[in-house]
Amino acid sequence: MVFAITQTCCNDATCVSVCPVNCIHPTPDEPDFGSTDMLYIDPRSCINCGACADACPVDAIFPVDMLSESLKPYAEVNARYYEERPVSHDVLGSSPVFHNWGPPTFDRTISSDFPAPDVAVVGSGPAGMYAVEDLLLHTSARVTLIDRLDVAGGLIRFGVAPDHPSTKRIDETFARYREHPRLTMRLGVEVGKDVTVDELAAKHDAVIYAVGASSAKSLGIAGEQLPGSVAATEVVSWYNSHPDAVDVVDLSARRAVLIGNGNVALDVARILSSRPGSLEDTSISRAALSALRDSDVREVVLLARRGPENAAYTEPEILALTKHPDFDVVIDNHDERVAKAIAEARPGDKAYLLRDVRQEAVDWSSRPAQERRRIVLRFHSSPVEVLGEGGSVSGLRTTGADSTVDIDAGMVVRAVGYRGVPVPGLPFDEATGTIPNTAGRVEGRAATYVVGWIKRGPSGGIGANRTCAQETVAGLLDDVRGGAVDVRGSRKRGGLLRRS
Ligand code: NAP
Repeated sequence: MVFAITQTCCNDATCVSVCPVNCIHPTPDEPDFGSTDMLYIDPRSCINCGACADACPVDAIFPVDMLSESLKPYAEVNARYYEERPVSHDVLGSSPVFHNWGPPTFDRTISSDFPAPDVAVVGSGPAGMYAVEDLLLHTSARVTLIDRLDVAGGLIRFGVAPDHPSTKRIDETFARYREHPRLTMRLGVEVGKDVTVDELAAKHDAVIYAVGASSAKSLGIAGEQLPGSVAATEVVSWYNSHPDAVDVVDLSARRAVLIGNGNVALDVARILSSRPGSLEDTSISRAALSALRDSDVREVVLLARRGPENAAYTEPEILALTKHPDFDVVIDNHDERVAKAIAEARPGDKAYLLRDVRQEAVDWSSRPAQERRRIVLRFHSSPVEVLGEGGSVSGLRTTGADSTVDIDAGMVVRAVGYRGVPVPGLPFDEATGTIPNTAGRVEGRAATYVVGWIKRGPSGGIGANRTCAQETVAGLLDDVRGGAVDVRGSRKRGGLLRRS
């Protein structure tokens, strides 16, 4: 029996650091790290110790022979990653090897001549919390954690879909740092409103901004502002009880079109299509659950401007969607390139993941009549205009190989990505929606840093923030050593500790 990593892999590599035989890859120092959809256990060398499963912060690792029906395909997904790779460690020789991946990338050592810095971290989502974790575990810094909301958690609490409870469990890992004696919480404090960037800088030795990307990108097409045309971020906030969420999302349409096929689009499609009863025991907002019980939505279309070989979703998420018991998934066969891409795909290609999904012609001119819910994947199709009738959405005009097609729909959701918003007092790059920085150091402002989506743009799951935070914290510590961060000498406490 061996273990396998499954759908909710967060990629933060906690499992890698506890594996005694180095059979989980890619490791943080391998070139693939950060570009694969998940991490994988090599079944040829797993010794079935279970250390990875114990350490996994999101409960994504199980013994292969205990995988539930829907998770069984992940045994193959793990094994497939290694098909053309040599057995990757020397454990087959004799004794296990701990940490077969070199010295730490970032040196936390700092002279004890330096007092511990006071660092403010703005934003309590995953990026901020990985920075907090690094500071509290590997230095003796004191941290003030600030969030504009009255509850901590950021995107973990308000972004992760409620039917992914094990992903949300990573917040349990972070919660213990919020109780740490060297951390002070300041909830309900908004930078730019309740405190300025300069005031924050004056009260702390360094400030790390982990404010994420809280607004939705828009498409800039006609009709986008019509009632019934909404951003996926609004729907996500609604079902996750975000304090700023709209009260009502109108689910009276038979067909909803989601523009984009990233993981956010998949989350929304899945929630709109799941049996409400299956969401009952989740953290979903009770108002949203009640609306979903009365929902008329029977078909959700995932509209992608490119082919299945270039889909934005990740492998674990599309695999889970196609195996979901509550609804069917079909592919609109309007463009012959789709069938060809799937037929010619090899294991490891994105299009290969759709080989078992039925392909059929869809009539877009009328609203679906079927009762069983379904999700339609439509590739090579771009939005041109949100159509309206009687003041609200009546459809979406699309363009593709089959020229212009009007999809009859009562709801259009744009899931085309998030966008960062400026922090008053800090520079902002309008083109990328980020705060300009070099490896986390904010350009033109001493002792000011960024981490997460506001640093690198809105892509990458929760775990991607761990290495991102390590880079930012390493820069901050370098600046303490080099004098660019002026740590006030009055609070000497023995300096930063060496990384354990
Ligand atoms: P995303 O992965 O960047 O997907 C954006 C989608 O919008 C893509 O399909 C993109 O198409 C499409 N798009 C962008 N501009 C468009 C336009 N003008 N017209 C038509 N389509 C357009 O963004 P996301 O879904 O917001 O996710 C953000 C990050 O969070 C991702 O890294 C995602 O994996 C992560 N996330 C992970 C999970 C999870 O692990 N369960 C859940 C939610 C989010 P192109 O590909 O053609 O550009």
